[in-house]
Amino acid sequence: AKAAGRNNVRWFHRSMLDETNDRVSLTSALRQALAAGELSLDYQPQVDLATGEVTGFEALARWHSAEHGAVGPDRFIPVAEDSGMIVPLGGWVLRQACRDMVEIQRALGRPFHLAVNVSPRQVHSSGWLDEIVDALKSSGLDASQLELEITEGILMDERWGVTGILQAIRDLGVKIVIDDFGRGYSSLAYLTRFPIDKLKIDRSFVHDLGGEDPQAPIVDAIIVMAHALGLTVVAEGVESPRQITYLRQRDCDEAQGYYFSPGVSADEVLRTVRRVETR
Ligand code: C2E
Ligand code: CA
Ligand code: CA
Ligand code: CA
Repeated sequence: AKAAGRNNVRWFHRSMLDETNDRVSLTSALRQALAAGELSLDYQPQVDLATGEVTGFEALARWHSAEHGAVGPDRFIPVAEDSGMIVPLGGWVLRQACRDMVEIQRALGRPFHLAVNVSPRQVHSSGWLDEIVDALKSSGLDASQLELEITEGILMDERWGVTGILQAIRDLGVKIVIDDFGRGYSSLAYLTRFPIDKLKIDRSFVHDLGGEDPQAPIVDAIIVMAHALGLTVVAEGVESPRQITYLRQRDCDEAQGYYFSPGVSADEVLRTVRRVETR
């Protein structure tokens, strides 16, 4: 028993070391990734539940590392956040996504909204507003089409004067979306205190909708409350027709999820939109 205990201790130390090494080597690989052109963006359609039309896309970062293979954003975004690299990386995502969306609109002959994920470090970085203005100007994308997805945590940290930053962005005509709504903080006070446009219901609430779901009343309440506040509601993680039926009955505005499509490359967007809209 004693020997086994000692082995456990050794194993524990080694796995922590492996994890640290992994993060260190991911960090240095990520530093090269932008310059090496290893990052790309996928676009996941968002569908208007009343009309069945694709009305927008969320840009999702992808990394194909020469050294590490395909690394998911759940792994590399935290590394980018810890190292501060999220600021240049997020800037690249914004510029590239705006450029791609103008191309996509040209190919499809109609406008779409573009949702881009934003990390807290970006919101707090000094050049962020200018980066947004530049990305819009150099791409030609209309400000009203851009939606920035932030998490509730950003609003909770009052030290940074977040309200002023968000208001300045909103004055450009850009929309602010609360991502993963309901997952983290339980304060609802900020919904009226901050300038926001849209709530994205966290997929953990969407998962069992349409069955005997104890969380369904929460979804109902979020939709009613959002509409009463003049906000648009989008549900993420929609995978089944039952979920769609439920959300449509409750007047949820938009949905996004594997039921319609996963994220696809810009080249595949045209085909994906046709498929989603003729199903
Ligand atoms: P998120 O913003 O909540 O993005 C949605 C995630 O859910 C995506 O995972 C998407 O592929 C996945 N998903 C979409 N539909 C479904 C579905 O029907 N079922 C399930 N189970 N999952 C679905 P992905 O692409 O792996 O992104 C993970 C997270 O990484 C994102 O979560 C976001 O927080 C972060 N991320 C991705 N790209 C960026 C970026 O450019 N900047 C920042 N700051 N974060 C990013
Ligand atoms: Ca998101
Ligand atoms: Ca989300
Ligand atoms: Ca989703």
